[in-house]
Amino acid sequence: MKVPFLDYRVVNEPHFAAYQDAIRRVLESGWYILGKEVEAFEAEYAAYVGTPYCVGVANGLDALILILEGYKAMGLMRDGDEVIVPSNTYIASILAVSRAGLTPVPVEPDLSTYELDPARIEEAVTPRTRAILPVHLYGQCADMSGIVPIARKYGLKVIEDGAQSHGAAHGGVKSGALGDAAAHSFYPGKNLGAVGGDAGAVTTGDAELAGAIRALRNYGSDYKYHNLYKGYNSRLDEIQAAMLRVKLSHLDEENGRRREAAADYLAGIHNSAVVLPVVGKANEHVWHIFAVRVRRRDAFQAYLSENGIGTVIHYPIPPHRQPAYAEWRDRRYPISEKIHAEVISLPMGPALTRMEREAVIAAVNAWQE
Ligand SMILES: *Cc1c(COP(=O)(O)O)cnc(C)c1O
Repeated sequence: MKVPFLDYRVVNEPHFAAYQDAIRRVLESGWYILGKEVEAFEAEYAAYVGTPYCVGVANGLDALILILEGYKAMGLMRDGDEVIVPSNTYIASILAVSRAGLTPVPVEPDLSTYELDPARIEEAVTPRTRAILPVHLYGQCADMSGIVPIARKYGLKVIEDGAQSHGAAHGGVKSGALGDAAAHSFYPGKNLGAVGGDAGAVTTGDAELAGAIRALRNYGSDYKYHNLYKGYNSRLDEIQAAMLRVKLSHLDEENGRRREAAADYLAGIHNSAVVLPVVGKANEHVWHIFAVRVRRRDAFQAYLSENGIGTVIHYPIPPHRQPAYAEWRDRRYPISEKIHAEVISLPMGPALTRMEREAVIAAVNAWQE
């Protein structure tokens, strides 16, 4: 039996007819940029997350950049100011800080949850620190109960990277409503994924920031041919917005199926060589990724592949070891390095069948280190 890591076609197939209706609606409207679909998606996603504002943008990286540029436009951050980021994350969280002209300051994660460790944040705060950027990695929230009070103590903004956590919650509050602003990616592989293109959004309760980002995504223009800022072209496509509205209406149900699959894995996998994921306190996990840790990771991946099971490594090279961050080459982030060396993601998604899960569990249990 073959179990693919994630098959986008299988995930989207149940929605094909609804997507076709959505695309037809856009075609027939004759309005192809920043129209009714973007407006409706923004309202629906803001209501879902529980924030007053949502601004659709072109992708998740831009969502992060535009939040930081928005704060710069408001005079709250300046070139060279520092933003605390996790040392283990997808590189985009860190690239955004660099792209916005700010300085990313990596802080190590908690080895059990892989999320930014609040106990290590204060030692990284300097007079130039302006924000903490926790990433809700793999589908569960960072320890926001620990992070937000530290931010308040030092007057820092909290910017959530919610690219992997659509529908997750911490203490009953949804990802995207836990800080001052949040970036969301709708890359097709995410839990709330666009189809045939990129998409992203910012959610916030800050009216001034939402207004600045609305302008920044559209050449910095607040009204037609009037430019407040040196802005970007980073708009959410009308067609992607129309299809995301379909996808959003099924998000809770699809996250529920991911939860069932994760529950099966957690109950079924018994192998002392395989470290299972831990759900952090007060967290509702949406299992974007089911990552386990194995000492002989590459041999484990080859073994699963021989057994027809697809896996992906999220992520093989830590940010401070990337050529793009050559200036960090001599730094040591031992927890992040250990995670990057041992982590491997098992098949996960809303379309994983019972038989597929059983095949994964049997193969993982039969692995001998
Ligand atoms: C996917 C992802 C991003 C970037 O989103 P894009 O839409 O691909 O630009 C940022 N941060 C994290 C943690 C991600 O997983």
